[in-house]
Amino acid sequence: MSGGTTRSVGLSLVIPVYNERDNLPVLHREITDVLKSFGNGYEILFVDDGSTDGSDTVLRGLRDADPRVRVVTFARNAGQSAAMDAGFRSARGDVVVTLDADLQNDPTDIPRLLEALKGTDAVVGVRRTREDNLVRRVSSRVANYVRNRLSDERITDTGCSLKAFRRAALQRLVLYDGLHRFLPTLLKMEGFRVMEVPVGHRPRRHGESKYGIGNRLLPSFMDLLAVRWMKRRKLRYEVKDDV
Ligand code: UDP
Ligand code: MG
Repeated sequence: MSGGTTRSVGLSLVIPVYNERDNLPVLHREITDVLKSFGNGYEILFVDDGSTDGSDTVLRGLRDADPRVRVVTFARNAGQSAAMDAGFRSARGDVVVTLDADLQNDPTDIPRLLEALKGTDAVVGVRRTREDNLVRRVSSRVANYVRNRLSDERITDTGCSLKAFRRAALQRLVLYDGLHRFLPTLLKMEGFRVMEVPVGHRPRRHGESKYGIGNRLLPSFMDLLAVRWMKRRKLRYEVKDDV
């Protein structure tokens, strides 16, 4: 806990961190630049998902230097969905923006997301250019196509972590491991409105991607089947009378 005071903030940035040591100071600086006009009206909530590369020390340094930084630390690696869930629960802002810690998302896109959120409940980024290798670009396209087909959905790029949400909407969700990729669908199932906006994308600057074909393709396909099932089995009824 830093200081023990609860500040009121309008905006919480939720950033899952797993071994991103060298990216964190740059990311913090970029966010601070972009959100200058917000003064102290925002918080940066890093969720350290059991990093073992010294990210914890760097995060502690950022927190000591900037009262807007908060850090939730996991005892051990629990996965990106768990990290995001913990961030959503700890967030204090009415609006939550998610982004990756590896500098692939560009914080200069955040104001546009916030502007778009004024007319809806969630805003999902669509990466116009992908700064990933060919295998990843192709597999992401195929994944989005299959996902949309099988779950009767129309989200262009759910793999883009840069998203903005009304926190009240997120509070309605129960997440399971892997479901961070399906947040737009889960929100729509609850009756919320979801919009898309184009955003930038950059190469990973330091560290390594935590996913490859091996640990993403099959698990996320199984998750897709679960979401498809949930969507089909969602309770739909209308009470005509209750006396
Ligand atoms: N991440 C995490 N826990 C994990 C795996 C990833 O918190 O078990 C974080 C990671 O540090 C990054 C984000 O989730 O901030 C996305 O991961 P990554 O950049 O490796 O995914 P990619 O962009 O390659 O799809
Ligand atoms: Mg990345």
